[in-house]
Amino acid sequence: MEGPALVLNRGWTAIGTTTVRQSLVLLVRGSARAIDPLTYEVFDLEEWLLRSELRSEELPRQRLVRAPNQLVEKPEVIVLTHYNKVPRIEVAFSRRNLYRRDEHRCQYCGKRGSGAEMSIDHVKPRCRGGLTTWENCVLACIRCNSRKADRSPQEVGLRLQRPPRRPTWSPLQEALPSARPTSWSRFLKDVG
Ligand SMILES: [Zn+2]
Repeated sequence: MEGPALVLNRGWTAIGTTTVRQSLVLLVRGSARAIDPLTYEVFDLEEWLLRSELRSEELPRQRLVRAPNQLVEKPEVIVLTHYNKVPRIEVAFSRRNLYRRDEHRCQYCGKRGSGAEMSIDHVKPRCRGGLTTWENCVLACIRCNSRKADRSPQEVGLRLQRPPRRPTWSPLQEALPSARPTSWSRFLKDVG
């Protein structure tokens, strides 16, 4: 179920991206329709299933996802059917996005690092009920993280460089230009 789908609002303005799984859920609920990015044809669930059935032979495997009764083409672009049902699209909490928010820097000492040099620290330790959320997780170098261990920053004399918050960049910017399916380009005139 990998790969993002571009989400358009009812006025065909791109408002975010979602997972293939979520885009299929929206189709099933009737909250969205799938778009053929080449012809701009719009498909409801039934039409999309029929189209998938007709095309499944010619499409590459990675463009298909297995549903209970048949192979379904992964929608690349969907359009919402109701203004008032716009799902709130937020930046997903993920390792990659955490690195991006914290600019690959340890949030205690400021050291820049990548991969194995860095780890994700729970500011309020998990053993004390600290949650895995944007507000409680920061990037920390191995040294600061092991110094802190299962204690609070104050207890070990560490100070956060800034309070951790949910990132505010547009989820549309999450898919880097190089990773965006080319079919999106016709819908993304104003996105950097
Ligand atoms: Zn550090």
